[in-house]
Amino acid sequence: MGETNAVMSPMQGSTDAAVTARVEALLGRMTLEEKIGQTILFTSSDTITGPTGARADLADVIAKGNCGGIFNAHGVANIRRYQDLAVKKSRLGIPLLFGSDVIHGYKTIFPIPLGEAASWDMKVIEASARTAAIEASAGGLNWTFAPMVDIARDPRWGRIAEGSGEDPFLGSAIARARVLGFQGEHLGADHSSILACVKHFAAYGAAQAGRDYNIVDMSERTLREVYLPPYKAAIDAGAMSVMASFNEVNGIPVTANRYLLTRVLRDEWGFKGFVVTDYTGINELVKHGIAADEYIAGKEAMLAGVDMDMQGGVYLDYLKKMVDRGDVSVAEINQAARRILEVKFKLGLFDDPYRYCDEAREAALSRTPEHLQAAYQMAFESLVLLKNNGGTLPLKLGGKIAVVGPLAEAQSDLLGTWSAEGYTHSPDSILTAVRKLNPNGEILYSKGCDVSSGDESGFEGAVKAVENADAAVLVLGESADMSGEAASRSSISLPGVQTKLLERLKKTGKPLVIVLLNGRPLAIERESSLADAVLEAWHPGSKGAEAVADTLFGKCNPSGKLPVTFPRNLGQVPIYYGEKNTGRPFDPANPCEKYKSKYIDCPNDPLYPFGFGLSYTTFEYSKLRLDHKTLDPNGSIIASVEVTNTGEREGAEIVQLYLRTHSGSVTRPSLELKGFQRVTLKPGERREVQFRIGESDLVFLHSDMTWGTEAGPFEVFIGPNSRDLQSEECVFTVAPGRQ
Ligand code: BGC
Repeated sequence: MGETNAVMSPMQGSTDAAVTARVEALLGRMTLEEKIGQTILFTSSDTITGPTGARADLADVIAKGNCGGIFNAHGVANIRRYQDLAVKKSRLGIPLLFGSDVIHGYKTIFPIPLGEAASWDMKVIEASARTAAIEASAGGLNWTFAPMVDIARDPRWGRIAEGSGEDPFLGSAIARARVLGFQGEHLGADHSSILACVKHFAAYGAAQAGRDYNIVDMSERTLREVYLPPYKAAIDAGAMSVMASFNEVNGIPVTANRYLLTRVLRDEWGFKGFVVTDYTGINELVKHGIAADEYIAGKEAMLAGVDMDMQGGVYLDYLKKMVDRGDVSVAEINQAARRILEVKFKLGLFDDPYRYCDEAREAALSRTPEHLQAAYQMAFESLVLLKNNGGTLPLKLGGKIAVVGPLAEAQSDLLGTWSAEGYTHSPDSILTAVRKLNPNGEILYSKGCDVSSGDESGFEGAVKAVENADAAVLVLGESADMSGEAASRSSISLPGVQTKLLERLKKTGKPLVIVLLNGRPLAIERESSLADAVLEAWHPGSKGAEAVADTLFGKCNPSGKLPVTFPRNLGQVPIYYGEKNTGRPFDPANPCEKYKSKYIDCPNDPLYPFGFGLSYTTFEYSKLRLDHKTLDPNGSIIASVEVTNTGEREGAEIVQLYLRTHSGSVTRPSLELKGFQRVTLKPGERREVQFRIGESDLVFLHSDMTWGTEAGPFEVFIGPNSRDLQSEECVFTVAPGRQ
């Protein structure tokens, strides 16, 4: 047995050509079975994230060289054991990849991705992914199944929590930031660089009726203009693996979708990494009704462009047979193995298979003060102040505050879905954080009710607490398991009797502040009308409680903005800011007009629009202007606006720029986000904020499905959210000859 035969000279800093040469040399020494082995990924028994568990013969499979990677294994000691099997027992000693769902932190948990997106702060989001990569790599992992970049416009879908919301522009920026955070300067740059896996390609977020795994049926235009851009942004940022989504798109399950996996991903976008299935995606082709049995399923997947089979065992069982029968060529197997080996070389695994197995690093890099500070900063920036009547917030320190609600004492629920190794600690609850912040105040606690049950017996205790207090903080919402995978809801209301509790507490006449913990937009029209203030806190992570408490009591000033529209009710879904005008647009000035595109029982507009969020200070926008009225070839237009902090405390504002096209050869969204900037201003301070608009901001799909621009005119809007915008007739056109 002994040491690996495949260890080669260091790959760090080596050129692509050098990597290619090494890969080809290795491929030349591999048997067909060994090449197939590289295309196989199995789960360990540490964590199970799908319907099938770990194989009993896993050790044997690895030792025979029939496995290219393991996922869901945790801890260096454990990972080292698996790596030993591959490196010391298999004939060529090819090291394994170790993957896991490091989605928003590993040991230190950051807010759920939807919450992170509410910061609109790419530096902090990148730092979150970097921290996750540092901790995960210290824990032996070299591959994360992230970023999840699925655009989602249906809050019933539980996985909306894992993405960046509804908008392709914001979503693309975040996709890029996360890839850079995970992979670092370049893949394998150092031992904290882990392979990113952009998922779930493609359009998984558009599952019909918001039901997980459901079919996706959408126009090519919507697919390409709205849903695909964040995947492309992640790939352009260097992501070297892609996960095929479970869903079908227009009749073909993605796992067998040659158009998406090969034509779009490779031929159009030039993706050079490898494609892995999502869990048993290949086996599921049988249930989809696209393959009669697993042999055919495997063949369809391989021919479509799937390089690695996660957990399904189909490639292990049938690929060789496919080659023997001439259904799949050796060249196709070589191609898949080549792509996977190339990544392993780039990660430096041939250089040192134990590069990520450093017990000292593991012990030193778990939940360090710096990591917790990064999580605090991210949590604070993710908070969105949705309502604050009459300056209810911030609350005064040292007063008498009632803290009520089913999530006030929650700890693990603060971590949210996919919280990796977060369970190994118990974060402070919001109640504890409020108590710690108020050593001289009186904090009265009563739970009131559960998250989902119908039990109202706790109401009276809650009423007493609130009656005895100056103000009440109600921590309401969803538990962590109510969003994420396989957690779709047919209602987006507050579960259980939480609204009833609020109605009962309203009668006390005391100021009521709602802190919402949730993984999706909730329909909270009534709750928001009853409350004096509403703070959207998502599932805010390891340091979320402190960030919430500090914000409630004014130590920090909230700055988050919604990355997704909050509807008034489920009937408005799908609702998003970029909807099109229609031929009979609703006119808010004439709400009773018939024959308009509207509801008869509900306004068209949402409860809280995309981009919305308040601050403890106020901002005024003025002097919006453009430096040109015509966009010249290869030129740009500078749009500028003055933003003034007109309140009494320092605050950060996320200034947003949107474009509208008045007419063109195809209809366009009524608004498209094309820029945003975060500015921090002292009271009274004024700053000119500039945006550069170039041709790439204007391209869209023509009727013949080619990308290009048209003359316009384009109107520029700038403001604090997608509703309260200024334009001041800032209109420009594109110079002729450039469309
Ligand atoms: C999920 C993926 C995840 C994979 C591995 C699947 O069920 O859809 O997002 O990466 O499991 O845990």
